[in-house]
Amino acid sequence: MFTNLSRDPQVFIHWDWKSIQPYADDLAQRPITPQSVVSWVMDWSDLNRLVSEIFARLWVATTLNTADQEAKTRFNTFLDELFTPSLVANQLLKQKLLASGLQPPGLEIPLRNMRVEAEIYKEENLPLLNEEKKLANEYDELISAQTVEWEGKEVTIAQLLPVYHETDRVKREKAWRLEMERKLADRQKLNALWSKLLEVRRRIATQAGFSDYRSYRWKELLRFEYTPEDCLEFHQAIRQVAVPAARRIYEKRRSRLGLARLRPWDLQVDPLGREPLRPFKDIGELVEKASVIFNKVDPQLGDYFDIMRNEKLLDLENRKDKSPGAYCADYDMIMRPFIFENAVGLHTDVSTLVHEGGHAFHIFEEAHLPYYHQIPVGMEFAEVASTAMELLAAPYLLANEGGFYTERDAARALIEYLEEAVLFWPYMAVVDAFQHWAYTNQEAASDPQQCDEQWAWHWQQYMIGVDWSDLDDMMVTGWQRKQHIFESAFYYIEYGMASLGAFQVWANAMKDQAAAVAAYRRALALGGTATLTKLYATAGARFAFDVRTLSEVIEMIEEKIEALERV
Ligand SMILES: [Zn+2]
Repeated sequence: MFTNLSRDPQVFIHWDWKSIQPYADDLAQRPITPQSVVSWVMDWSDLNRLVSEIFARLWVATTLNTADQEAKTRFNTFLDELFTPSLVANQLLKQKLLASGLQPPGLEIPLRNMRVEAEIYKEENLPLLNEEKKLANEYDELISAQTVEWEGKEVTIAQLLPVYHETDRVKREKAWRLEMERKLADRQKLNALWSKLLEVRRRIATQAGFSDYRSYRWKELLRFEYTPEDCLEFHQAIRQVAVPAARRIYEKRRSRLGLARLRPWDLQVDPLGREPLRPFKDIGELVEKASVIFNKVDPQLGDYFDIMRNEKLLDLENRKDKSPGAYCADYDMIMRPFIFENAVGLHTDVSTLVHEGGHAFHIFEEAHLPYYHQIPVGMEFAEVASTAMELLAAPYLLANEGGFYTERDAARALIEYLEEAVLFWPYMAVVDAFQHWAYTNQEAASDPQQCDEQWAWHWQQYMIGVDWSDLDDMMVTGWQRKQHIFESAFYYIEYGMASLGAFQVWANAMKDQAAAVAAYRRALALGGTATLTKLYATAGARFAFDVRTLSEVIEMIEEKIEALERV
């Protein structure tokens, strides 16, 4: 056993490959027998935890202060000098375990995943996989370089977003058109980039022995429990059930705004012209109230959050030189999560903290699992942990429960959340359906004009309720504006599945909150040791995307919205 392997982050954060290699070599040399397999996997697991935690900590440091050159250098040095050799060593160790044919209890699912990873692994694909990453980076660079001149200043597209919440419609339209025109200026470049990506992906699939990229990607994404046909069934269910519901939401918005036609620049502004919610004055208040809320959801979850607070595992306030966005990182050796966000005092800061809190609780609940390889959970369920937490916490957002809002403001926040969830499904279906077409019709998909036509066709099927007339060029190029299509093929439907799962957890909670939370926690505690079907079932949900499951959920959401409108 690796009794001398450091478990102290203060110590191992300074390790280099020289400090780690002896452990990897030891594992490479040590025979795996039925008697030794458990201790071998335990040691391998600890080594993985250690490298993973160094990775996480050094990366986190770069996001806390993007101006910290030293942090950047440390992270890059780590990638080149420690992480890359550790990946190579790890691949050999993985093969060694698979070759032993031995399977310690609790590793069935992780080994299933490793076997598929080994099956699709082709050394001659490594340069192509790198090429794919570079092309994805090119997409990022193109997009992040997009700026426009707004009110005499050069601003990024993200900086335009607040304008869409303003009540001045002329101003909103002006900003929207400016943004779109800027994006259309890159149309040819993005077409060219897409063609290159398609070709690289086609070659990766062919070299790995697959007839098309979709079947390759299915394995790469470890999709064992649903087929492409299941996704198409999900699209159909969405068309049948979510599209009409989305249309009702758009119609309500149109009429409240008093408009003849709802246009793409009318989708963010508050339909009743209210000021944005301002739930808290400072980070202290955000953390204090979040703690009360989590404690009400479940005292154990509240304890977890308080541990994070005491151990300084939260960095929530927006400040200069902090990376944008939010995340929950895992420190796998000490089995603690770390939450990062950029709170400025808005409702999204509360919901983001609650969402990331769900991810964080997953880490705590998994801490009892002996092996590192039992920790990763498919996104189809990982996002249930976070999304369901947003819903489980909803009753305690009220000030008289210790939360942030009057009854009316809490209702408003929840209505917005529920409407967004319904509107997401049709859009998700367009993004997914487009990709099913593209990767099973590669030749046609390498022609940008056919891509535009396909996107437009799907858009018209699913996105009913918003008037895009006279905006053809903007509408047909929507696929170019979806980062996932370029950077992470097919990865998107997971969010739609998880949302459906989370709402089923919520349906249970409305009947019996305590029982629903208990089931939720039991499912989280399974980590990555169970199938998706079992994870969902344990949480009290069906892993299904048929008309019945979706209509039950949509019906519940619409009833809830109606009740909340009366508050
Ligand atoms: Zn999440």
